[in-house]
Amino acid sequence: MKTCIAVVLLLFAGACLAQGSPEGMHNRAAYPESEAAAAWRGLAAGYVRQAIKDRTLEEDRSLNARVDAVMATVGAAVAAIDSRFAHSSWRAILINDFGYGAAAFPGETILVDATFVRTLQLNDDELAMILAHEAAHVLAGHASEKLSFMAEFLGKEKVPTARKALLAFLADDAYAAAYRPTALLQEREADAVGAAIFFAAGYDSRRALGIFDKLAELETREDRRDQDSHDAAAVRKQAVSEAFAELRRFHAGRHPTPQ
Ligand SMILES: [Zn+2]
Repeated sequence: MKTCIAVVLLLFAGACLAQGSPEGMHNRAAYPESEAAAAWRGLAAGYVRQAIKDRTLEEDRSLNARVDAVMATVGAAVAAIDSRFAHSSWRAILINDFGYGAAAFPGETILVDATFVRTLQLNDDELAMILAHEAAHVLAGHASEKLSFMAEFLGKEKVPTARKALLAFLADDAYAAAYRPTALLQEREADAVGAAIFFAAGYDSRRALGIFDKLAELETREDRRDQDSHDAAAVRKQAVSEAFAELRRFHAGRHPTPQ
């Protein structure tokens, strides 16, 4: 990873990862990376197949074009700051009533709830913020960590393959509840790394931060904080604003304005 992301992680290590160093958070992988990625890719493909069957794939051309354009810019920013993704092609697929705001999968696929995009009337800067956050989950390998957690929690003899671990996780909400403390750390990491990706993509950070005000309004309406693995929107807004300020300072230090 290039300095941009490293700097953000370093600066936020104290605040965000107080329960362990970034290395400490990443348990040793229980399954080979390719096997874990294949299990998650299979799940994403399943969601897309279901959406085709249910006719819930978003058909609005202009909305699809907007999301494709923002995804291309965010994907190029990822390629520029993390060489593992230099040749990746990212896809964002809009599904109506997907049920999550957005979800990222290995294979550089991001499923986005079209209803969420419409309800919150997301502008391109806010969309970029969401896609950068989701891409950050992929960069940080969070999906594979979830499966390693299952292997540790249930014992690998119960879940000998990554696919079995994933199916077990999805079958019972109790696992998501047990995983929540780790999920919270992952969300903070995705906000920090996402800020660096967003910054590299060159969108308007002030406009993008508006997403957190919209999310805060949703929180008061829906009151589902107890099941949420994110910090409250106001807390996230503060953390991401500080990450942007730090990135601006870092960038200004490397490219001082000529006197
Ligand atoms: Zn997230």
